[in-house]
Amino acid sequence: MINIAKPSIGENEWKSLKEPIDSGWITQGEKVKEFENIFAKIHKVKHAVAVNSCTSALHLILIALGIKKNDEVIVPSFTWISTANVVLHVGAKVVFCDIDKQTYNINYNDLLSKINNKTKAIILVHLFGLCVDVKKLKNIIRKDIKIIEDCACATGSSFNKFPAGSIGDAGAFSFHPRKIITTGEGGMITTNSDKIGSLTKQLRNHGASISEEDRHKKKSSFLMPSFNLLGFNYRMTDLQGAVGLVQLKKLDSLILQRSKIADIYFDKLKKISWLDLPAVPNSFQHSWQSYVVMINSKIEKYSRKKIMEKLNIKGISTRPGTHAVHMLSYYKNLYKYRPEDYPISMYCHNHSLAIPNHNQLTLKDINYIVKSLAGI
Ligand SMILES: *Cc1c(COP(=O)(O)O)cnc(C)c1O
Repeated sequence: MINIAKPSIGENEWKSLKEPIDSGWITQGEKVKEFENIFAKIHKVKHAVAVNSCTSALHLILIALGIKKNDEVIVPSFTWISTANVVLHVGAKVVFCDIDKQTYNINYNDLLSKINNKTKAIILVHLFGLCVDVKKLKNIIRKDIKIIEDCACATGSSFNKFPAGSIGDAGAFSFHPRKIITTGEGGMITTNSDKIGSLTKQLRNHGASISEEDRHKKKSSFLMPSFNLLGFNYRMTDLQGAVGLVQLKKLDSLILQRSKIADIYFDKLKKISWLDLPAVPNSFQHSWQSYVVMINSKIEKYSRKKIMEKLNIKGISTRPGTHAVHMLSYYKNLYKYRPEDYPISMYCHNHSLAIPNHNQLTLKDINYIVKSLAGI
């Protein structure tokens, strides 16, 4: 079976675990700090704060920004469900906005139409690794509206040389095995704001005023820190930090390899009339976390379900791109949405297809995938 995704992880990650295991310091410590420092450099931000998932990262950012009850946060309707869930977790209202069929990213006009005086923040999703032009948006919206970048798929992505997570108020990254680099589970907050940086550092660690690691370096390490915030345990372990450091070294080559696979797909799949291929604006660095095509045919033979079944029989695993979150039962029941409220998201929900693009694919696999699609 050719998997939809497979992490690029091996001998060096395995070896990197030895040091924390031998030292006995396995919770958040030096490795996490080093991982954060290098991550911040790569994404050209002042602060990087590691946590246990991208969802936790988004949650802490919303709290640090003071988003609360009666506030509205705009979220694209075509995304992973947790982009919306975190808004409900801080008691605010999710206001969905539709997307663009070519980029799978936010539709600017629909977004602008959803802004009102309760709008406190927008979560932009760099879906499948293609960035939204955050600068462009920043220039057209009210200055008091906060911009959060959901960079789950966009480690190493950029637009016009601006790295993902560097232009909004904060960015949230994921290191789940289906993303660009992995630490098993894991996430990162990026920000240029000292306030968001220090608040999220405290919030991830039970609200403690000082991390365990820094406390242990002090003479009076036996003294407990003060707790002036209601925090969580969203820490990343040093085992994950060690693995993340090895993964980061490979980041450029991982993205280059995925881009090369995408190039082959573009070249070979453009002849298939019932497929629409993804758009990539010039001077954007796509991470190609997923290569997502759209099935445009109304003929039953070319329905997505039929195509997925046929590919599955041939040993090729595929997935729908992602969800129209307004139609997932929790949100449908909560806000009484109808499918046609967000027509493009609904269309993508029904017609998008992610085909394998990961760093373990061989040229033989790629040719087989192309041949199998063409032969349907
Ligand atoms: C994967 C993903 C998330 C969640 O990341 P976790 O690290 O699993 O919490 C959030 N948003 C988007 C767009 C994603 O693809």
